[in-house]
Amino acid sequence: MHKVTLITGDGIGPEIAEATRRCIDATGVKIAWDPQEAGVEVMERAGTPMPERTLESVRRNKVALKAPITTPVGTGFRSVNVYLRQSLHLYACVRPCKSYVGVRSRYENVDLVIVRENTEDLYAGVEFARGEPAAAELIGHINRLSTDRKVRTGEKTTGVSIKPISIEGTERIVTYAFEYARANGRRKVTSVHKANIMKHTDGLWLEVSREVAKRYTDIEFEDRIVDNMCMQLVQKPELYDVMVLPNLYGDILSDLCAGLVGGLGVAPGANIGDDGAVFEATHGSAPKYKGQNKVNPVALILSGMLMLRHLGERDAADRLEQAVADVIAEGKSVTYDMKPNRDDPTAVGTSQMADAIIARLKG
Ligand code: NAD
Repeated sequence: MHKVTLITGDGIGPEIAEATRRCIDATGVKIAWDPQEAGVEVMERAGTPMPERTLESVRRNKVALKAPITTPVGTGFRSVNVYLRQSLHLYACVRPCKSYVGVRSRYENVDLVIVRENTEDLYAGVEFARGEPAAAELIGHINRLSTDRKVRTGEKTTGVSIKPISIEGTERIVTYAFEYARANGRRKVTSVHKANIMKHTDGLWLEVSREVAKRYTDIEFEDRIVDNMCMQLVQKPELYDVMVLPNLYGDILSDLCAGLVGGLGVAPGANIGDDGAVFEATHGSAPKYKGQNKVNPVALILSGMLMLRHLGERDAADRLEQAVADVIAEGKSVTYDMKPNRDDPTAVGTSQMADAIIARLKG
């Protein structure tokens, strides 16, 4: 019996969480679900969008399936999702992007995995607002320290975001990418960077990537400059396999790759750390569709499939993925976004699409 925290989220979260829970249970894997709240609705009652008991549950169970959560605007809370990743030290974000027959896309046979560093880089949140005394002080300090390059724009008119990239953070994520490649029978890891311009951050990233790669002689290694990588991905995605990227490039290329395989409705994800893992769809809480039994549950169901793999339930994960692929390929019991015409009256609801996947699993 596996213990799993189920964060039902808000907006469309509860509907797709329920659909996913039913599909996972239908694989026959025994899971003791521990349902927990987070998001804007619980914030109104508890005063925080991420109650301590929810975090505690994830710390205890070490595995969570999480539906999307709305980031409250103008309340002083940073994104709950970023908070969760930081407080549980979930340093790796893994996003497989795979073509399924029946999903409309310009591309076929794409099978890529993005491994994104989750804690460093321009996302570390070390920022200085223009006009604040601290920003002016920092700019003055930088200009005194820096012998050749200076910040030449005004002390009061310039904002600064800091980009820290460390040896230890890079070593951890690149090692994770190689271990992932090995465990999942992948052939190649591509390290993505802009080392030609940012020598002390991306340059360090590239140097450490090369060092780590030497320990994995069974897996091919190469590097690409991020702008070239973008062009290559839209021209010949079949050349690539696992890609490992610092936080910001990983964020951007995740969406690019989701676009290659048909968009957010089918893009699953996992956030992994040494002490826990949180599985979630790439998309958000789509509040306008809340409570309508309308949206596509596939991205969260595929995130559940990744969770089964993480729990060592490979056979159940394969069966669930095949059932999802069959239902999409048939194109009958699918939600509005998967029909050629979005107003197609034959589109089914969230719960009915889950029923069709369950019928495949059992049939
Ligand atoms: P969103 O992904 O929620 O929705 C954008 C649009 O994509 C929707 O209007 C809908 O047309 C479509 N869409 C999304 N999911 C779909 C699905 N399952 N089936 C069919 N169509 C789907 O993005 P947004 O509108 O930018 O964000 C809404 C809220 O979600 C924000 O508060 C944002 O901060 C939050 N968010 C949360 C997460 C998370 O919990 N991990 C991730 C992204 C955004």
